[in-house]
Amino acid sequence: MAIYHDAQYLKQGHNSAFNTDHRPGGNVPHSGIYRCMGCGREIVAEERRQFPPHSHHQHTAAQGIIRWRMTVYADHQAK
Ligand SMILES: [Zn+2]
Repeated sequence: MAIYHDAQYLKQGHNSAFNTDHRPGGNVPHSGIYRCMGCGREIVAEERRQFPPHSHHQHTAAQGIIRWRMTVYADHQAK
């Protein structure tokens, strides 16, 4: 689970991008922290790059396939 220190730098969002799972090797739509919904492992992924390949890590049969879901969106806009 992602951990933060100062809550003033995070806010809750309800965009559908937080409910979309992505396959290994697919294009990353938004920079941020992504969680594997099978095992809970987290990665940082950059927009316009690709998610790690299927060989990134192994799952048991019960964990199913690797599927990445964004949990924290990285806002690149200056404030
Ligand atoms: Zn996994």
